[in-house]
Amino acid sequence: MRIDLHTHSTASDGTDTPAELMRNAAAAGLDVVALTDHDSARGHAEAIAALADLDRDLTLVTGAELSCRLDGVGLHMLAYLFDPFEPEFLRERELVRDDRVPRARAMVTRLQELGVPITWEQVARIAGDASLGRPHIATALVELGVVATVSDAFTSEWLGNGGRAYAEKHEFDPFEAIRLVKAAGGVTVFAHPQAVKRGAVVPDSAVERLAAAGLDGIEVDHTDHDAPTRARLRGQAADLGLLVTGSSDYHGSRKSVELGACTTDPEIYGEITRRASGAFPVPGAGGRAQGLS
Ligand code: AMP
Ligand code: ZN
Ligand code: FE
Ligand code: FE
Repeated sequence: MRIDLHTHSTASDGTDTPAELMRNAAAAGLDVVALTDHDSARGHAEAIAALADLDRDLTLVTGAELSCRLDGVGLHMLAYLFDPFEPEFLRERELVRDDRVPRARAMVTRLQELGVPITWEQVARIAGDASLGRPHIATALVELGVVATVSDAFTSEWLGNGGRAYAEKHEFDPFEAIRLVKAAGGVTVFAHPQAVKRGAVVPDSAVERLAAAGLDGIEVDHTDHDAPTRARLRGQAADLGLLVTGSSDYHGSRKSVELGACTTDPEIYGEITRRASGAFPVPGAGGRAQGLS
């Protein structure tokens, strides 16, 4: 069974619509895929609707990737199988999502001040109704020929953390995120905890504190982690009793990684579904959710 628990659609900064993502996940031979857009569950309905038309079984795990900040360091928390209508988490999620708009406007203004001929209309066209992120602005910079690739915009010169055109956004306190997700019946997994090329990461002691606060797992197998890092994280997970997941963090054509590039052990997936009470995995064309015992 092939299980990929971290993907992005056009509901955030991926390039596949939620329906296209389900079709591509089935074509990639996945049995289970999680949709985890940044700070948003708005892609879920379209993904669920698309499952019925697939010619292959694919189970959808609904989720989100929450933008958090701890002691000044940004981190991402994956949330799975929460009740999307639970009012407190819904309100906080939408607050974080909606604050991405003024923050993106601030980054566009900074770029204009740096002499870049970018417009808000251009960014709005690229983002559509997505949860707005730096990759949308980076795409505009690629269109303008300012940088060659989306990744090249994530430097101190442009949109990288603390960069010339960077602006902060409102983010969750990760302890509050764990509490909100649990109260909505969901499960939390710390995404790519050692993705050092994206910027500063939190120390191991932070993972211990999050584990003590009810964190369920850490994403170990991720293309931003090299082999020694994965080995060290596996050891940390064993010490702290955390589940270990693996995922692609697929973003469609905005990133080179393919669906299923890293995967999660079926036993771990089963444990995630057992711990969750906010939502069930959604079965695909075959009508029975995969991997549930
Ligand atoms: P934001 O949520 O708007 O702050 O943007 C962060 C997102 O940008 C991440 O979730 C990644 O999808 C993407 N990202 C971060 N660092 C890089 C990088 N070095 N190259 C390409 N994409 C990146
Ligand atoms: Zn992203
Ligand atoms: Fe992330
Ligand atoms: Fe992600």
